[in-house]
Amino acid sequence: QPTVVFDNVVFGYEQDRDILHGLSFEVPAGAQVAIVGPSGAGKSTIGRLLFRFYDPQSGRILIDGQDIASVTQESLRAAIGIVPQDSVLFNDTIGYNIGYGREDASAEAIARAAADAAILPFIRSLPEGFDTEVGERGLKLSGGEKQRVAIARTLLKDPPILLLDEATSALDTRTEQEITGTLRRVSRNRTSIAIAHRLSTIADADTIFVLDKGRLAESGSHQQLLRHD
Ligand code: ADP
Ligand code: ADP
Repeated sequence: QPTVVFDNVVFGYEQDRDILHGLSFEVPAGAQVAIVGPSGAGKSTIGRLLFRFYDPQSGRILIDGQDIASVTQESLRAAIGIVPQDSVLFNDTIGYNIGYGREDASAEAIARAAADAAILPFIRSLPEGFDTEVGERGLKLSGGEKQRVAIARTLLKDPPILLLDEATSALDTRTEQEITGTLRRVSRNRTSIAIAHRLSTIADADTIFVLDKGRLAESGSHQQLLRHD
C-alpha cells in the first residue's frame, strides 16, 4: 500500500486563481483518511490534482515518495480508484458496467467485484442477473444501487489507493449508512482518502483533515476534533 503526500501544494484554476495555498498533508500507507471542509474549500480539487487532471503551480504530490509529475498516466490511473458522488452508468448491462475498461473482466472477476461491493444478492434477484440492462432502455437503478455498481467497477481494478469523492453524499441516510459500511470494508487493505461533508460518515477514519480556504485548518481523529468544537 502506498503513501500519499501533498507537499506545499499551491494551485489555482485559470479563472479562479485562489484555491490551494501551500497545502501539506500525509496519508500513511494503508491509512483511511478523510478530508472535510466547507463547500468551495478545495476538497475535490485535491482529487483532480491526484489524477493529474491539473498540475500544481508549485509544490509536489508524491505517491510512495515518487513525484506524480514523473509517473505515467497509465500507472497513475491504475494506482487510484475513484468512487464519485453521482456515478454515471452506461445504458448497457450490469456486467458491462462493472467490467467496463478493465483488463480482467472475466465473469469470475466481475462476480468477485460484485460480491465485494455487496451487490450479489441484488443481482441474483434480477431475472437475468449480470445481463440485466440498466438505464434508459432497461431497469432504473436507485442511487444506492448505482453507487454499488460503480464501487464494483472500481474494485475490479483492485486499486491500492481509493479516492471516495462524496461517494455517499447524494444518498438518503439509510442507504448512505449501508454504502458507508461497504466502503469501509473495501477500504481496509488500501490507502484511502474520503472526501466528505458529513462527519458521521467518516467517524472511524484514522485521521481527518479539515480544509479551510485551501489550507489545512486542523487534523486529528474524530474524537480529537469533537473536543476542539
Ligand atoms: P470543494 O470540493 O471543497 O467544494 P472544489 O475543489 O470543488 O471545492 O472547488 C474549490 C473552488 O474552485 C470553488 O470555489 C470552485 O468554484 C472552484 N473551481 C472548481 N473547479 C473549477 C474549474 N474547473 N475552474 C475554475 N474554478 C473551479
Ligand atoms: P481507467 O482510466 O483505467 O478506466 P479510471 O476510469 O478509474 O481508470 O480512471 C479515471 C477516473 O477519473 C475515472 O474513474 C473517473 O471517474 C475519474 N474522474 C473523471 N472525472 C473526474 C473528476 N472531475 N474528478 C475526479 N475524478 C474524475
